[in-house]
Amino acid sequence: MTKEIKVKALKEGSVLDHIPPKKSMEVLKILNLLKVAKENTIIPAINLPSKKLGKKDIIKIENVFLTAKDLEVLWFIAPGASVSIIKNGEVVKKIPIRCPEKIVSILECPNEDCITNHGPQETKFTMYKDKNCLCEFCERIFPLEELKIKYNSQ
Ligand SMILES: [Zn+2]
Repeated sequence: MTKEIKVKALKEGSVLDHIPPKKSMEVLKILNLLKVAKENTIIPAINLPSKKLGKKDIIKIENVFLTAKDLEVLWFIAPGASVSIIKNGEVVKKIPIRCPEKIVSILECPNEDCITNHGPQETKFTMYKDKNCLCEFCERIFPLEELKIKYNSQ
């Protein structure tokens, strides 16, 4: 017998939907949601059935309204995700996840000699439509697949 699990609906907050299955923990980490949400409830749901993806993850965050800026980094791990802003139990806004034009600090430069790998300098990449990224410090261009996400341990 299958039993449907109902996840509590939000009255106020943000819902991140269509996250690739098992990626929700990474999303929590990259958006720093545990910090952003402070004392508010966060409900991650992992491996829910999805028509589009087969399986998917969802994250609901109570009383936190994410902005397009917050979500830029999400493009790297969940490019097909969607975000709904809920107010008074209704979806008032949907924020599309777009490829950011510039991405600061979350990516590592693959060039070992780059200044960003030798000190506190934050990385800064310009993203091109052809999925190549320019490091603004060593001025080298890398395909997106070569860039790794850097997680803050704090
Ligand atoms: Zn570099």
